[in-house]
Amino acid sequence: MYRSMKQALLAASVLGLVITPAALRAQGSAEKKVESKQTAVAKCHETLLKGVVNLDNNDVRFRTAGGLVVLIDPLAGPSDPLAAGAGMAKPDLILITHSHGDHFVPEVLGEYIKANPGVVLAGPEDVCKTAGEKGIDRMTRVVPGNDYEMAGINFTAVPAYFTNGKSHPKENGWVGYVLKLDGASYYVTGDSGPVPETAELKADVIFPLLWGCGGNVDQAVKMVELSKASLAVPVHHGGHIEAINKFMAGLPKETRGLYFTGGKPVTVQ
Ligand SMILES: [Zn+2]
Repeated sequence: MYRSMKQALLAASVLGLVITPAALRAQGSAEKKVESKQTAVAKCHETLLKGVVNLDNNDVRFRTAGGLVVLIDPLAGPSDPLAAGAGMAKPDLILITHSHGDHFVPEVLGEYIKANPGVVLAGPEDVCKTAGEKGIDRMTRVVPGNDYEMAGINFTAVPAYFTNGKSHPKENGWVGYVLKLDGASYYVTGDSGPVPETAELKADVIFPLLWGCGGNVDQAVKMVELSKASLAVPVHHGGHIEAINKFMAGLPKETRGLYFTGGKPVTVQ
């Protein structure tokens, strides 16, 4: 042990180190600053995800501070334990991105109409048509690029398509949604890759398609970059943990990522 600070400093300078008490103090406070910044970021993201849950596939649900409930592409009905557990069995607004069966289940919509007869429903033209054929005649048509206010919720329907392949062509008029809730913006991409319109969007939180149906990790990361979101929550991931990890590793350094499994958030980085 060194008998005095002077001796300790002398020993340090012999070793080629320059350590002063002031430097030590500065180092400590810098560490504290980084730590408190990280805590603030984590807290901020906790706040952003308050009342938000991804149950499965593209089934993303929101409950605002005022108690309004919005479901996007619900697959689970109101009696599903996860749906009921999330406190979202009586939605005010249901938005559908497109007519594929892993996003749009008319029977499930029928169940929510029974649970809350006042629920407002919206989706692209072909979804409204199919719903009508199944006896659901109340759907409002949305058009890519337009802003809406329905059931007290402000949102934009944004184009969702792939520039390659024929499974999700732009001409179908299918959409993703950017919701404005409690002062933050949430972008659920639907089945879409990064397209020119994505660069015009800005969101605090993005829920990109990760796996299958034309989606992949690289495209999902690109969409995060374009949206400049501070929090990325990959959906439609099918539990493919390798793809999830690759996605998280590819995120811009200023973006934090997590995903949901069994309706619960899992932090990766
Ligand atoms: Zn699809």
